[in-house]
Amino acid sequence: MKFKCLRHDNCCYFSSLFECPVVFEDEKERLERLGEKLNVKVRFEEVQDGVWKFVIDGFCGFYDREVRICRIHKVKPLACKMFPLILDPKNRLILVSRACKWVNENWNIVTSNPVQLVFPEEYEIAVKAYFKFLQASRKEL
Ligand code: SF4
Repeated sequence: MKFKCLRHDNCCYFSSLFECPVVFEDEKERLERLGEKLNVKVRFEEVQDGVWKFVIDGFCGFYDREVRICRIHKVKPLACKMFPLILDPKNRLILVSRACKWVNENWNIVTSNPVQLVFPEEYEIAVKAYFKFLQASRKEL
């Protein structure tokens, strides 16, 4: 069984820094430009050179709660496109977030099948993000 987004708004609501999107230099700059344009305050915390946490406390400023859509959907960061897969830069892992309603309701499926079968599109994006992360890590060495 394949992951299906339930359009629940949990994925754009953050209560811990750990779950906040990991973004790369180009994405950070884009979010800063979009923030200025759309009058959204954006804040970042450096994880390592070229890798940042997009710090969100509560609902993301780019999320339109009335119509339940991301106002920057087409250009949102890889971390948002790969959710409910999340990058844990400290431990260099891709994890599955339990903040996602579908994941919680289908935890048996998630834990008994290969991640690339349950989340095929998200996995593809997660691989891209992981390579970007490795590239940034190599620059730091
Ligand atoms: S950028 Fe868009 S998808 Fe990402 S957390 Fe904000 S509203 Fe949600």
